[in-house]
Amino acid sequence: MAEQLAPGLWRLNIPLEGNPLKNLNSFLITGERNLLIDTGFNQPACKRAMDDQLREIGADLNRTDIFLTHLHSDHTGLSTYLHRPGCAVFLSGTDAIRREEYSHEEIWRKKYASYVENGFTWEEMNWLWDSNPAKMEGPEPLDGGFDRLDDGAVLEYGGRKLRCILTPGHTPGHLCLYDACNGVLFSSDHVLFHITPNICRWEGVPDALGDYLESLDKVKDLPVKMLLPAHREETGDLRQRAEELKAHHAHRLDNAERIVAESPGLTAYEITGRMQWSIRARNWTEFPLTQKFFAVGEAMAHLDWLEVRGKVTHRLENGKIRYYSIDNHKGVD
Ligand SMILES: [Zn+2]
Repeated sequence: MAEQLAPGLWRLNIPLEGNPLKNLNSFLITGERNLLIDTGFNQPACKRAMDDQLREIGADLNRTDIFLTHLHSDHTGLSTYLHRPGCAVFLSGTDAIRREEYSHEEIWRKKYASYVENGFTWEEMNWLWDSNPAKMEGPEPLDGGFDRLDDGAVLEYGGRKLRCILTPGHTPGHLCLYDACNGVLFSSDHVLFHITPNICRWEGVPDALGDYLESLDKVKDLPVKMLLPAHREETGDLRQRAEELKAHHAHRLDNAERIVAESPGLTAYEITGRMQWSIRARNWTEFPLTQKFFAVGEAMAHLDWLEVRGKVTHRLENGKIRYYSIDNHKGVD
C-alpha cells in the first residue's frame, strides 16, 4: 500500500522477492507534473506492486517524469515500462553511460574475467552469468536514452525544489535528492539503516570506498527533518548514521589489512572468505553465490583503499591476483 508522508509526497513499497534487501522504497511527488523516484526490478512482482500503488494514488503516467538515483536494476528496472512519450527519465551522466553499457555482453565478459582473476572459478561465474539481477532484471533500452543530470542540477515538482547531490561510492554516479526548504533528503542507497550500502570495486574507479567515505562527509551535515532511504522502513539521524557507516568501513579495512599481513599471497576471494560478514551462512562455502559476488566486490573496494594508501600491493601470479602487505612484498621480492 502507498503511504502518504506529506501532502503531495508518497512512499510506494515495492517488494524485492528473494533479495536480502527485501524491498525498495519508491517515492512519488505529485503536482502539475509528478516525479517518481526509483522503480523496482523489471520483474512481475515489482510491476504489480508499482501498478497497484500508482493506481491507488491516481497518478497519471502521461504527466510523470522518472528520477533514477543510480543505475542498479532494483532502482531502474521498470523505468522503460513506466515511461510515456514526452516524459523524462533522469539519471546522472556517469551512471547513464554505465547503464547503457550493460546491454553489451563484452562488458560482462570483461567484468567476469576480472572476478576469475580475483579468485572465482569459471564454473561459479558461468552459473552467475544467467542469474545476476544486475544483468537480468534491468530496464529494456529506452528510446532517446536517459536525461542526464549533473551534480547541483535542480528539479521542481509539487512546489518543491530538489537539488541533485552527486554522491559517488555505491555507484560512480549515485545521486541523492535534497529539498532544502522542507528538510527532506532522498538518500537512496547512499545512507541506509539496519543494512549497510554495498560498496564494490568499479571498472575505471581507483578508490570507490574512498569516494564513498568522502560522499558521506558531503551530506552528513545537511539540515534534514525527513531522511528517506531506498530500502527498508527504518530511518534515523543522518549525522549519526554517517558516523556509524564510517566506523563500519574502518573496522572492515582493519580486518582486511590484518588478513593480508597474516596470510600473504591470498586472492581477493580468499581474503573475503576470511573476513567478517553479517550474512546468515555458517561458513564461506555456504555463502550463496550471488552474495559471494557482492562480498568479493566489496572486499576488493577495501583492498583498493588500502592499496591507494600504500598499505598493500598486488601481483598477478599464474592468472590470479594475489595480495601482499607492503612489508611482506619487500620480503618476497
Ligand atoms: Zn543500489
